[in-house]
Amino acid sequence: MAYAYDDQNIFARILRGEIPNKTVLETEHSLAFHDVRPQAPDHVLVIPKGAYVTYDHFALEASEAEIVDFTRAVGEVAKIIGAQPGEGGKGFRLISNAGEHAIQEVPHMHVHVIAGRPLGRLLEPA
Ligand code: AMP
Repeated sequence: MAYAYDDQNIFARILRGEIPNKTVLETEHSLAFHDVRPQAPDHVLVIPKGAYVTYDHFALEASEAEIVDFTRAVGEVAKIIGAQPGEGGKGFRLISNAGEHAIQEVPHMHVHVIAGRPLGRLLEPA
């Protein structure tokens, strides 16, 4: 089954400039901006500019240039927010919700970069 991309989703509208965002970083293929409902002092979303629904969609179908750009953008965001563990930062967590069980709200692939406080264990018991 092919991935069906809804071009009316809120991140597509941000990419088209129809909705404002607080940009942290923009590259050729990626955009990083602050989450409107931050769950930690630093909560940045990194999205590819291409029309990908989920992480797996992106990982399997994006070009190498897009994947490299996105991966570097995540690294740059960790640097910009001062969270790099190897550089005196206290670390960060990456989350990418995909689909129903992960409760993905926005159907445009994104990675949450969350930092700025102790984050606890990865998952609450089900
Ligand atoms: P997810 O459940 O992984 O799809 O999370 C989507 C995230 O997008 C949530 O953390 C929302 O707070 C965030 N979000 C929704 N609308 C906006 C917006 N206009 N600008 C920034 N972040 C948003």
